[in-house]
Amino acid sequence: MATAKRDYYDVLGVERGASDREIKSAFRRLARELHPDVSDHPEAQERFREAAEAYEVLSKTETRELYDRYGHEGLRTGGFRPSDFDFANLADLFSVFFGDDLFGGGLGARRARGADVMAEVEVELEEAARGVKREVRLPVAVPCPTCQATGAAPGTSPETCPACGGSGRQQSVSSSVFGQFIRTSTCQECRGAGEVVSTPCPDCKGARRRIEDRALDVDVPPGIHDGQRIRLSGEGHSGELGGRAGDVYVLVHVLPDVRFVRDGNDIVSSVDLTMSEASLGTHASVPTLDGDVDLEFKPGTQPGETRVLRGKGMPVLQGFGRGDHRLLVNVAVPRNLSDEQRRLLEEFARAEHEANYKAEEGFFEKLRAAFR
Ligand SMILES: [Zn+2]
Ligand SMILES: [Zn+2]
Repeated sequence: MATAKRDYYDVLGVERGASDREIKSAFRRLARELHPDVSDHPEAQERFREAAEAYEVLSKTETRELYDRYGHEGLRTGGFRPSDFDFANLADLFSVFFGDDLFGGGLGARRARGADVMAEVEVELEEAARGVKREVRLPVAVPCPTCQATGAAPGTSPETCPACGGSGRQQSVSSSVFGQFIRTSTCQECRGAGEVVSTPCPDCKGARRRIEDRALDVDVPPGIHDGQRIRLSGEGHSGELGGRAGDVYVLVHVLPDVRFVRDGNDIVSSVDLTMSEASLGTHASVPTLDGDVDLEFKPGTQPGETRVLRGKGMPVLQGFGRGDHRLLVNVAVPRNLSDEQRRLLEEFARAEHEANYKAEEGFFEKLRAAFR
C-alpha cells in the first residue's frame, strides 16, 4: 500500500481536462497495445491492470470527481476498490468491451471467405523457359445448384432461426469491471445463417455447398523457378453465406534436365571434347534451350574453358531479356589404348615440348570463371 501510485491521467496519457471520449480512446489505444495476443511487453499485464484501473476511475463521474479533488487518498476513504480481473480471461474482457472485431476475432463469421486450394504441376525446364499452359484438376466446393445454396430441399424453403430470430447472432449479458455488457456471439443454432432448414437438400445434405471437380488452365509464365506458386484468385472453395471464394495456389515443380544446370537465370552445361579434338580444333553440336547449336572450338582448346552464349539462358520472370548460357569445356583423356595408339602417343610424347603447354590462364581460373 505504501508504493506510490501513478497518476491516473499519466497512466492513460491524457490531460486533466480530458473529455470522456478522449479518456475512452486513450484506454482503447493502450488496451490494443497491451493486448496479450499482440504485446510481448513483459509488464503488459501489470500495465493493463493499471490502465484499466485508471479507466475505471476516470470514466465514472463520481470517482473522477473524487480523484480530481483528493487524489488516490480520496478514493480510498471514499470506499473505492479497484476491481479484480481474471487475467486468464483478458481476451474475453477485450471482446466484451470492444466488440469482437477489434482483433479480427472469429465472431464476425457470418460471411466466411472460402478456403484456399493447393495444387501442383510439373514442368520440364524447357517448358519453364518458354512458358506453358497446364490443366489442373481439383475438387472445389461450389454453391449447391439444386437448392440455390439455401440448403433446403427443392419445394421447401429455409425458416427463420427460432433461436436468434434471423439475426444469426445471440446476445448474452456479462458482467465485467466496466459494468454489464451485452455480449454478441454467433448463433449456435444456425451458425450465423439466421435460417434453419427442416428438410435438407438431398444433394448437399443442407450444407449449401457441394464438391465439384474443376479443371483450371494454369499459365506457367516463362522463367518460373522451381517451388514458386501461381495464385488463381477466386478459384478456390466458394465462401459461405455470400463470402468471397478462396484462391487456388499452384505449386510449380521445374523438373531437372540432365543436360543443363540452372543457376538463377543462367544455364550452365558442359561439352566433352576428345584430347585430339581439343588439340586440333573441331566443331561440336551443343544443346541449348533453343535447340542444338554448332560451335567451333579452336586448336588448343583447354579443359575448363567457358564459352558464354549471351541471351541463351532462362527468361527473366516477369522481366525483360534472358540470362546467359555458360558452356564449360571438358577434355576427355583416352583410356584402354591399343598397342598402335600407345606407340603413336609415345612418339608424340618424345616430340612434344614445353611450348605446347604454355598457358595464358590456369585451369582453376577458368573453372572459377565458369561459376563466377
Ligand atoms: Zn443443396
Ligand atoms: Zn440462429
